[in-house]
Amino acid sequence: MPATLMDGKALAERIRAEVAAEVKELGHVGLTTILVGDDPASDVYISRKQEAASEVGIVARDYRLAEDTSEQELLELIAQLNADAGVDGILVQLPLPSQIDENRAIQAVDPAKDVDGFHPINAGKLFLGHEGLVAATPTGIMTLLDEYDVRLKGANAVVVGRSNIVGKPVSILLLARHATVTICHSRTQDLGGHTREADVLVAAVGQAGLIRPEMVKEGATVIDVGMNRTDEGLRGDVDTAVTERAGLVTPVPGGVGPMTIASLLRNTLEAARRRRC
Ligand code: NDP
Repeated sequence: MPATLMDGKALAERIRAEVAAEVKELGHVGLTTILVGDDPASDVYISRKQEAASEVGIVARDYRLAEDTSEQELLELIAQLNADAGVDGILVQLPLPSQIDENRAIQAVDPAKDVDGFHPINAGKLFLGHEGLVAATPTGIMTLLDEYDVRLKGANAVVVGRSNIVGKPVSILLLARHATVTICHSRTQDLGGHTREADVLVAAVGQAGLIRPEMVKEGATVIDVGMNRTDEGLRGDVDTAVTERAGLVTPVPGGVGPMTIASLLRNTLEAARRRRC
C-alpha cells in the first residue's frame, strides 16, 4: 500500500489560524526581518515569511540592506532592534555576505527575540532541555510527527544531516522524546545500512533524491526536509518512489516547508508572550 502523505500545508494553515487568534488577543506582535544582499532564494524566503506574518496580524518590518553592508552597520541595526519595545522577533536571513561574520550577527540578536532559535543561548537551552526558542524547521517536524501520532519513544530515529539549523536540533528534540537517535553525515559509511534501520527517517541534506526506496524500512515514517531546485522543479532529498515502501512521507512541496513558516510565526508569538510576562 502506498504511503500516506503528511499534509504539512493543511496543518500549517490550522496553526496560522490559531496564531492569528492569539495575536489578536495579545494586541501587538512585531517581527523584523533583515536581508543583506540580493540572493534570489533568500528574497523568496523573506517575502514568504513577511507575507505569512502579515496574514496573521503580526506587524512585519522588512530591512533590505545592500550587499556591501559592513558588519558594523548590521550589528548597529540589530542593537537598535534589540532596544525597540515594538519588536518581539528579529530574523537575520542567512547566508550573509562574506564580509560579515555569521556567528557575530547571530550572537548580536537578543536571545529573547531570537525567533530563529540560532543564538548560542537558545541552542544551549535546547541541548540542556530547558525552555527557550527552538529553530523553526525542527519544531515544525516534531509538530507534524505528533499530528500523525508517530511513536517516538523507543523508536529508531535516523537523521541524515548535522547542520546547526536542522540536523542537530531535530536530533536533540527526537532524543528528548526518547527515540534512539543516529546522526549521519557526509563521512558516514554505509548510509543505507543506517537508514534501513530507521522507524523515523529525517533527511536534511540538500541532494535531490539521495534517499532511494531500498534505503528505507518498510512502513517507516520519512521526513523530507530537502528543498532542491532542479530542472524538473523543486525536489526533496527523498526519491518519490519511497512512497512505495514507507508508511508516512512528507511531500515536497507541501510538507516541512509550510511547517517551518508556521513554527516561525508561533515562535514570534511565544517571544511576544514571554516578553510581556
Ligand atoms: P547544510 O548544507 O548545512 O547541511 C547538509 C548536511 O548534509 C551536512 O551535515 C552534510 O554533512 C550532510 N551531507 C551532505 N552530503 C551527504 C551525503 N551524501 N550523505 C549523508 N550526508 C550528507 O544544509 P541544511 O541543513 O541547511 O539544509 C538541508 C536541506 O534542507 C537543504 O536542501 C535545504 O534547502 C533544506 N531546508 C529546508 C527547510 C524547509 O523549511 N523545508 C529549512 C532549512 C533547510 P557534513 O556535515 O559532513 O558536511
